[in-house]
Amino acid sequence: MHILLVGAGLSGAVIGRTLAEAGHRITILEARDHIAGNCHTERDADTGVMVHVYGPHIFHTDDEEVWDYVNRFETFLPYKNRVKTTSRGQVFSLPINLHTINQFYGKTLRPDEARAFIEDQADTTIEDPQTFEEQALRFVGPDLYEAFFKGYTIKQWGMSPTELPASILKRLPVRFNYDDNYFFHQFQGMPENGYTAMVDRILDHPSITVHLSTTFTRDQADEYDHVFYAGPLDGWFDYDLGRLGYRTLDFERFTYDGDYQGCAVMNYGEETVPHTRITEHKHFSPWESHDGSVLYREFSRLAEPGDIPYYPIRQVDEKALLADYVAKAEGETGVTFVGRLGTYRYLDMDVTIREAMDTAAVFLEKGADTPVFVKAPL
Ligand code: UDP
Repeated sequence: MHILLVGAGLSGAVIGRTLAEAGHRITILEARDHIAGNCHTERDADTGVMVHVYGPHIFHTDDEEVWDYVNRFETFLPYKNRVKTTSRGQVFSLPINLHTINQFYGKTLRPDEARAFIEDQADTTIEDPQTFEEQALRFVGPDLYEAFFKGYTIKQWGMSPTELPASILKRLPVRFNYDDNYFFHQFQGMPENGYTAMVDRILDHPSITVHLSTTFTRDQADEYDHVFYAGPLDGWFDYDLGRLGYRTLDFERFTYDGDYQGCAVMNYGEETVPHTRITEHKHFSPWESHDGSVLYREFSRLAEPGDIPYYPIRQVDEKALLADYVAKAEGETGVTFVGRLGTYRYLDMDVTIREAMDTAAVFLEKGADTPVFVKAPL
């Protein structure tokens, strides 16, 4: 079969490779002038620093098959994400751990004492937290919530944490020990030569042809036996029901001669500081050494048409609209919607790869008549 893939990010690359290895011919259309989607990396010509062009991407997973898959195409070197946050004139450790708690309250609590102390701060009348704010008040109490989560979340999502789902905060652990690893997954690392080098190798197969700077239009689909579409779900339908909301990010790039902040990610918990965080890219490659430094000051805002979509908002209005688009998508034949944009979900890289592997496997088993995979739980 001759298969079209729209988008050369992780979904497109993994599906393309799997189907190419199974004997299919693959054409990939990518609107941007580079592969790898939002995990694209590029070495800065002046400093030699590997830059995460669309913001920080840290690979972490519990899925051994996914870990083996990425390591097949690129060497992953040890990297642990240790995030700091600045609030009220001090620097604290994230995710909230025993160091954060002791520093914040000026105490020397041991793990059990800290657990009991935080339980005292927490609002235990909230039995089943629904909103972000309820989740925070239930698990860390008002002081830590206000210092570290409230302002950051208002900046990141442009709305009150009372309107956001608890699931967003559930991404972050609270620890009663000094473990300051931001993630709790078994495997974590950084690609030695960047994500783009990895995706390039995944796509390096004689049956795969990639066309960069090529915008897909629906009429092109007719020339192929099947389409895997990793573009925005509403874009497939020319936004005819309206636009699904996204947050976009603006990066204010600056350079520094030396080490600017001593860590890769510094968050800013307060609403009065306009940026959410500053990333210092050379610290994402701790095995390298560079005198100069490239940094991004990161700002979040509502995406307008033409902006790069980052985070699906998935509020009440978006969910209703999403349900309408999903119904339309289910009426389509010959196309499979994949990835973060195709399914309008906040996907980590490992989950994106896992779903791409599974989608390709189902396709190979059942053929081109398989139903659309719109995995967009409402
Ligand atoms: N968050 C926060 N303060 C922080 C870091 C995160 O309030 O210092 C909240 C924020 O709402 C964010 C969510 O926790 O959207 C999830 O954080 P994560 O670091 O997973 O966000 P990502 O790196 O995906 O942007």
